[in-house]
Amino acid sequence: AKKALETNCYRFYRSEMNMHARAMVKMSAALRNAIDENRLVLHYQPQVNIDSGQIIGAEALIRIKDSKQGLISPADFIPIAEETGLIIPMGEWVLKEACRQAKQWQTIQNGFVVAVNLSPVQLHQPDLPHAVTRALQQSQLAPECLELEFTESAIMNNVEDILRIMRGFKATGLQLSIDDFGTGYSSLSYLKHFPVDKLKIDQSFVQNMLEGDNDAAIVRAIVSLGQALSMTTIAEGVETEEQLIYLRGLACTEMQGYLFSRPLPADEFTKLLSKTQSVSKQA
Ligand code: C2E
Ligand code: MG
Ligand code: MG
Ligand code: MG
Repeated sequence: AKKALETNCYRFYRSEMNMHARAMVKMSAALRNAIDENRLVLHYQPQVNIDSGQIIGAEALIRIKDSKQGLISPADFIPIAEETGLIIPMGEWVLKEACRQAKQWQTIQNGFVVAVNLSPVQLHQPDLPHAVTRALQQSQLAPECLELEFTESAIMNNVEDILRIMRGFKATGLQLSIDDFGTGYSSLSYLKHFPVDKLKIDQSFVQNMLEGDNDAAIVRAIVSLGQALSMTTIAEGVETEEQLIYLRGLACTEMQGYLFSRPLPADEFTKLLSKTQSVSKQA
């Protein structure tokens, strides 16, 4: 009986493997097509000063345009892009496009900053600094107006290399942030060594912070940590007025979330930026 069970498990495992392998081949071909057919698109979510409500910049968030499914969200394809290495050409496109767009928005708003997510796979790519430099040169965007987001786990997995990469980026003048802060395992003693400008408080804490004491305590701790290390703090996933008021009370610096705006296609973002700019000029 035991033997039969093992054989069945083995068969099951084999068929799972085949399914995974086949799905991978199919999905990586679909991703390749999307890249070749220029069906990658960036949406932009405003990042806002928490007191004045002024837009400071935006986070660029990738989607794939699909004739059947509409827009495919990054959660559905970033893992495959990482596994197949397609995240490399994809990431280069994101850098180039985000910098080009930010330069254009600077004609509406001085000093507009665009934030771009970096995959841990990109961080292993020796060409990454050159890809960043190329994007800045092509767009003529000032390095201070490009922010690169590192995830906490990418940093902690690879402290020595990341430190070297970050120092290079800071020497170029870029801004650096840690994304989804609080969900990884940052060593606080390491954190002070990283030349990071901004901590992005993960949305899970922000969304639960008014329901229970624990998440509120974590948010408060991250804001204090940011202050102690002279880093800006931005709350992600702010959805309600109550959350905003609470965060203001903590002296959190910036916010990003559906309460202010969902991520928008570039043309809609242009309209929003023009509108808010003309309002703040009147004031
Ligand atoms: P992230 O970098 O933490 O981005 C924030 C995510 O939270 C975005 O999801 C955004 O739409 C969503 N969000 C913003 N405000 C709210 C809110 O108030 N409520 C809720 N429930 N969600 C909110 P999105 O666009 O689906 O992106 C998911 C993740 O995919 C990103 O998380 C990032 O890790 C990854 N990603 C997106 N674009 C890129 C990219 O160009 N390169 C890489 N490597 N990863 C990317
Ligand atoms: Mg991000
Ligand atoms: Mg995040
Ligand atoms: Mg996230």
